Amino acid sequence: MTQEFSSRVALVTGASRGLGRAIAIKLAGLGCRVGLNYLSNDAEAEKVARQIEAAGGRARLFKASVAEGTAVREMTQQIVSDWGKIDILVNNAGIVRDTLLARMRDEAWDEVLNTNLRGAYLCTRLALRSMMDQSWGRIINIASLAGVVGNVGQANYSAAKGGLIAFTKAVAREVGPRNITVNAIAPGFIVTGMTDKLPEETRQSILERIPLKRFGRPEDVAELAAFLASNGAGYITAQVIGVDGGVL
Ligand code: NAP
Repeated sequence: MTQEFSSRVALVTGASRGLGRAIAIKLAGLGCRVGLNYLSNDAEAEKVARQIEAAGGRARLFKASVAEGTAVREMTQQIVSDWGKIDILVNNAGIVRDTLLARMRDEAWDEVLNTNLRGAYLCTRLALRSMMDQSWGRIINIASLAGVVGNVGQANYSAAKGGLIAFTKAVAREVGPRNITVNAIAPGFIVTGMTDKLPEETRQSILERIPLKRFGRPEDVAELAAFLASNGAGYITAQVIGVDGGVL
């Protein structure tokens, strides 16, 4: 627990599993009150809240699809009414619907764009109100290496993450004068439910391209998110920072 973070309120989307879970636990461990957003997995979300509370932290669950305007509005209003403000927003909720473009269904395109990109737009727009009122804020968008270099079978996901990176830079320029920073993290291959499904052959060929010779851990990403949320990162904005083991 640190003095700096004990007055902060954070909202982490997609916090029931994977990277969002690790980021929420890290921020709560530093002393933040943390809103844990998730879509449907009540059991996993409750586990995260219990883990935070057992360690003396403060957390509250928000079951809402980030892709739905009304649900996001209700969630952000509830946080501000319960805790007075939102200081830190981590746009982490994300899904994949991988397939080659020639075979892609419109639903797979729309679902991925709606969750990964529209979700970040809605949460940012609504959380910004509170940040602008107090002239302090931190927005951290969890993009992906795929949004920087593209990936076979992920035209929808790469487009969404590339869009999220451009969104990060545009919003950083808009809200910089209000002392709000906006940055993107581009993780490489991190061990979570999202990457568990990769075939063994693919995993081995990816490992060969990673100089650090291991897949990332959600905690590797959480460390950077916590730094970007800190006062110490106050002069860093509009950046895309890789957490990828140096993947080539
Ligand atoms: P994950 O383990 O599959 O977890 C996804 C999380 O997002 C869950 O908490 C899920 O909630 C939530 N979610 C999904 N749709 C949602 C919606 N419409 N509204 C609210 N929450 C929603 O994913 P992950 O691997 O941790 O990935 C987290 C982020 O990192 C994603 O943006 C992903 O694109 C990015 N990323 C991951 C990797 C990697 O290697 N894992 C690499 C690069 C980037 P439920 O539990 O309720 O379903």
